[in-house]
Amino acid sequence: MAREDYEIVIGLEVHAELSTKTKIFCSCPTEFGADPNTHTCPICMAMPGTLPVLNEKVVEYAVKAGLATNCEISRDSKNDRKNYFYPDLPKSYQISQFDKPLCEYGYIEIELENGEKKKIRLTRIHIEEDAGKLNHNEFGGGSLVDLNRAGVPLIEIVSEPDLRSSKEAEAYLKKLKSILEYIEVSDCKMQEGSLRADVNVSVRKKGTTEFGTRTEMKNMNSFRSIVRAIEYEADRQIDVIEEGGTIEQETLRWDDVSGKNFSMRDKEDAQDYRYFPDPDLVAIRLSEDYIENIKNNLPELPESRRARYIQEFGLSEKDSNLLTASKHLSNLFEEAQSICNNAKTVANWLLSDVSRILNEKELEPDQIPFTAEQLAKMITLIDKGTISSAIGKKVIEELFENPKDPEEIIKEKGWIQISDEGAIKEVVMKILEANPQSIADFKAGKDKALGFLVGQAMKETKGKANPQMLNKMFLEELKK
Ligand code: ADP
Ligand code: ZN
Ligand code: MG
Repeated sequence: MAREDYEIVIGLEVHAELSTKTKIFCSCPTEFGADPNTHTCPICMAMPGTLPVLNEKVVEYAVKAGLATNCEISRDSKNDRKNYFYPDLPKSYQISQFDKPLCEYGYIEIELENGEKKKIRLTRIHIEEDAGKLNHNEFGGGSLVDLNRAGVPLIEIVSEPDLRSSKEAEAYLKKLKSILEYIEVSDCKMQEGSLRADVNVSVRKKGTTEFGTRTEMKNMNSFRSIVRAIEYEADRQIDVIEEGGTIEQETLRWDDVSGKNFSMRDKEDAQDYRYFPDPDLVAIRLSEDYIENIKNNLPELPESRRARYIQEFGLSEKDSNLLTASKHLSNLFEEAQSICNNAKTVANWLLSDVSRILNEKELEPDQIPFTAEQLAKMITLIDKGTISSAIGKKVIEELFENPKDPEEIIKEKGWIQISDEGAIKEVVMKILEANPQSIADFKAGKDKALGFLVGQAMKETKGKANPQMLNKMFLEELKK
């Protein structure tokens, strides 16, 4: 059978670090990037006799995430110990949630390539603590433990195996990321590991109802490698089955450099975590009022913004989708448009030049270095005729390199549009003198010659001449 006769089945377990100021069971800061072991205390270092106290904000953020993803919120929940040994886990157990997660039975809607919508079900969202970090090879091949991350709060969002392609998995992750950003419970910085996914993949022959055996690739933190890893793993499984073999349930390690995955050997899936309720923590009971209050204070979600952009600004469905996919992009759009009052033009700049540069530089929208004021100012300069849109493109490039007031940029670079009649006339005469053939062509009825002359004048002025004025003046001269 061929590859097309198989269907890929994917389920994702996504970990998101919550952006609370302090850790989940102590008051150490959660900030990323501090010197090793400076954000620690006896509790998160697991000293004997210390007691955890649950950070209320963690519950609030998890409930927010549950409500924004259509989950049912448990009124009665608890924390459990998940026991395993690893050097980055000083207590030798992780405090997590086992059989009573805070949120269950949710869904996220994704848009498929053909424009259809599909609901991806969420099994659960639970709260847990992050582990520390091992830094390998820094000192003669040894490993050092950094416990700054130990006890940073996480939510784990588990999907049902509803995804059927790497594209769907990518769309799901992007949607989930955007929702978490909108409700401001996680900064979702994938490059810092704030958002990472365990990717479960299986294949089955099309038309069958039973799932195949899955494998799992843990801790993946870029969309691109997740897509590649799914494709690679599905191909590998299909090859094994086609050759008469069977898939073993195992944990694999994806290697982005070689584009391959490798068996991790230790059969983590066979592990018994000996879950039991943490006796140091009280049960989590949530009142109706508490949940209702969080629900009423949820910020506007991408769906609603999208509808508003179509209605209020007359943007297309596609453009509204693209703009609202990132809260940062969407905020930038709203702020800039409120300054320059030109929604369509702002949307165009963001979705064409700005998006192209983001792609080229492999940056996320929240890494755009310039402000809404700077973007709006650039658009206003074009509107006023101070610069041409060709120069506008150069200003955008410059705003990425060295963000500052566009007016200063164009002054410094000498990019101000030449709209002075005398100066334009001078260029026109110079170009006409150098191109007698074009004059003859124009007089013989070849209108294209005008375009050529304007082009030459633009080249001469490095794109700075006002194109409307050039056109008008060339015509006047040619008709003399
Ligand atoms: P764990 O990995 O902790 O043992 P689960 O058994 O709940 O947890 O499954 C974890 C993830 O694996 C879920 O996201 C689920 O959708 C996914 N999954 C389960 N079975 C399959 C399968 N046959 N193929 C692909 N994904 C699957
Ligand atoms: Zn601490
Ligand atoms: Mg798993």
